[in-house]
Amino acid sequence: MANFWETKTLDDMTPAEWESLCDGCGKCCLGMVDDPDGGAELKHTNVACRLLDPDTCRCSSYEDRHRFVPDCVRLTPAKIDRLDWLPASCAYKRIARGAELEDWHPLVSGDPESVHKSGNSVRGRTVAEREVIHFADHIVDWLR
Ligand code: SF4
Ligand code: SF4
Repeated sequence: MANFWETKTLDDMTPAEWESLCDGCGKCCLGMVDDPDGGAELKHTNVACRLLDPDTCRCSSYEDRHRFVPDCVRLTPAKIDRLDWLPASCAYKRIARGAELEDWHPLVSGDPESVHKSGNSVRGRTVAEREVIHFADHIVDWLR
């Protein structure tokens, strides 16, 4: 039987399929800042959201996260193309653009650790929000 991510659009996925499509990279849970050089695009930092577990790269309170982080963006099929700050590797973005999932995606590999082992998650690369004074000191260029 064909895999759901190869046959369905984002709109057609069940809630469980939608959730499982997240590769667990944690890249969308890092802070962003205005470009210090005045550019129009926001810059990514390695500053982890207060709810991001730096080891699992998952939200530590996903179901009620908006109680603690009201501006956490709820992804929907309609929003994906407009969210320029999502990394190019994001599984939702790839499916929305007609691309295949990467080999390291847990759905493809069958291994939830493959996103980390392949170096495609933020594991070991973040700093805690409470330790940061100026987000602009933590701008990174490895987030793709
Ligand atoms: S960037 Fe995309 S695939 Fe990675 S954690 Fe965020 S929503 Fe999931
Ligand atoms: S609240 Fe959870 S899902 Fe939202 S950015 Fe923070 S860690 Fe990520």
